[in-house]
Amino acid sequence: MQDAFLTHSHTITPDDFSALAAFDGEHLWHPYATLPPAYDNHIVSHADDVRLYLADGTALIDGMSSWWAAIHGYNHPALNAAIHAQLDKMAHVMFGGLTHAPAIALGERLLGIAPKGLDKIFYADSGSVSVEVALKMALQYQLACDKPHKNAFASTHSGYHGDTWHAMSVCDPVNSMHALYGKQLPAQYFLPAPPMGFDAPLDDTTKAQMSEFFVRHHDKLAGFIIEPIVQGAGGMRFYSPEYLAHLYALCQYYDVLFIADEIATGFGRTGRMFAVNHANICPDIMTLGKALTGGYLSFAATLCTDKVARAIHCSDNPALMHGPTFMGNPLACSVACSSLDLAVANDTPAIAAQMQSKLAAHLAPAAQWQSVADVRTLGAIAVIEMRAPIDMPIFQALLSKYGIWVRPFGKLVYLMPPFVMSDDDLAALCQRLLELLQEYLSIKTSSN
Ligand SMILES: *Cc1c(COP(=O)(O)O)cnc(C)c1O
Repeated sequence: MQDAFLTHSHTITPDDFSALAAFDGEHLWHPYATLPPAYDNHIVSHADDVRLYLADGTALIDGMSSWWAAIHGYNHPALNAAIHAQLDKMAHVMFGGLTHAPAIALGERLLGIAPKGLDKIFYADSGSVSVEVALKMALQYQLACDKPHKNAFASTHSGYHGDTWHAMSVCDPVNSMHALYGKQLPAQYFLPAPPMGFDAPLDDTTKAQMSEFFVRHHDKLAGFIIEPIVQGAGGMRFYSPEYLAHLYALCQYYDVLFIADEIATGFGRTGRMFAVNHANICPDIMTLGKALTGGYLSFAATLCTDKVARAIHCSDNPALMHGPTFMGNPLACSVACSSLDLAVANDTPAIAAQMQSKLAAHLAPAAQWQSVADVRTLGAIAVIEMRAPIDMPIFQALLSKYGIWVRPFGKLVYLMPPFVMSDDDLAALCQRLLELLQEYLSIKTSSN
């Protein structure tokens, strides 16, 4: 007779690809996916520089930076060295009652590059958690200011702020992947999505709409959370610094804390170190994640101004009531220090700004296609918006043939390559993506 815990004895070796695929399809959930999956996940054996290597040896040029995170590419010698050195000292110690040099070194670096005025840091373990912490900070701030009625949040349509409970409540209320939970989420307040276009002038109708929104709701609002300049997972939409600056001014006037979610945009992606730099503003609260550790470990931070921290400190409940078990993890802090040093030394914002014109030139032909609604670029981000949602099983199956890694969602096919990508690889990535899309479209047409 076999004990229950032995029924899954681990006998699958890393080179038994069909057994790996079978186990994955049977037991492992993937992001926003069904289980069993609708199509096979590719098995990655290793990754180096800007390439992912599949189990069968196929090399894919990486167009995703593993969801904005791996900005210096994979298996980077400096990042590897930083994490190895820290591992030999300690992998982790609790942050309650203890502190350590890696957490402090990272704090110094963050305050060195963050918008002037941000002064206090809370380390969290993922982007969504850093958003929860930002919302708690704003609530505690308003309580401290004796305004308990200011206990709701505002955002715009087409936003994305994470998958945990309150983070979900400030995501796009209509089209988000969380519509399913809508009735269980706290009701928040939403402006229409910012008008599209980095260079779009702020029109009077939009301005009037924004003013009216604040007049009606400011009394209930602890904070306004927004992804500055680029709305990512909610639609890959770019909007103007003028809109952002105007929103910031309204928040200031109505004492609604301005929360900038820079989890996707931080560390150079939009052509500035932080997207708020485009509008020359300093948010009251800012969340960071994704590229913070150069894509090595899940880690995030919530920064706030002295004004916010001081108000909380001077209140009846002076402690900030959050404390993840792995807060301030030394491995994550040390690899983040190394990643920030590289970002500054390599001038990632300048690289992104240069990449924009290359991406735009390479992808321009797609703008003429019938099936393409729009091609747009900002910094090191390129979006091909199709007229119809991508049929993922067909698209996924073509990736290894063309040797690229791209992960569309809905109608959006987009690239955000690692900043270390050479011009040749960037050209190849774009060229192959266009060829892949042409084959994809011909398969779709013939199957209709
Ligand atoms: C990815 C993302 C989050 C959530 O971060 P996780 O680390 O996935 O929890 C929040 N806000 C924005 C803008 C993001 O892009």
